[in-house]
Amino acid sequence: MNEHDDETEHDSKHRAETDGGTDRDVVEIPKTVELPRLLDFYELQNQETTEIVEFYDNLRDGQLTTTQCEECGELHFPPRIVCPECRSEDLEYVDLPHEGELFAFSTVRAGAPMGMEDEVPFVTGIVDLGDVQLSARIDDAEYDDLAIGDPVELKIVEIDGPVDHERVFYRFEPQE
Ligand SMILES: [Zn+2]
Repeated sequence: MNEHDDETEHDSKHRAETDGGTDRDVVEIPKTVELPRLLDFYELQNQETTEIVEFYDNLRDGQLTTTQCEECGELHFPPRIVCPECRSEDLEYVDLPHEGELFAFSTVRAGAPMGMEDEVPFVTGIVDLGDVQLSARIDDAEYDDLAIGDPVELKIVEIDGPVDHERVFYRFEPQE
């Protein structure tokens, strides 16, 4: 009998002789949750909290990237940790163009995510970068001044929120 089996036997015997225990460990659930964190639109971006930390690190360095499957060549957006086409985990980060065209757009007049309430109305859109399309806010633009096909370029914003690390996110704006 190896060491592992000894432990298993000990554990099962131990369980059988107890009533579940009256002297129990306590799991703390916070009685209140800070709303800004709970309803925060942006995900946490450090090593401990996301598996696409490289995407955010690249963005913080000024580069929009995404994952491409080394097995089947599929380009993803948003970045993945497993290829949805072939399930390979061999993915590499590749640069995306920072300029594209407005594929579709709309305007948000109410019900904006936390931190954006004071900015309504604002424009959101789908930007065509050639190989991928992504949805993003379109900054520095009025809905009435935009048209499908307008050239737009990447704009990176910093997020000032109640978390212990620097965060960034991507938006687009009309090309000058
Ligand atoms: Zn693949």
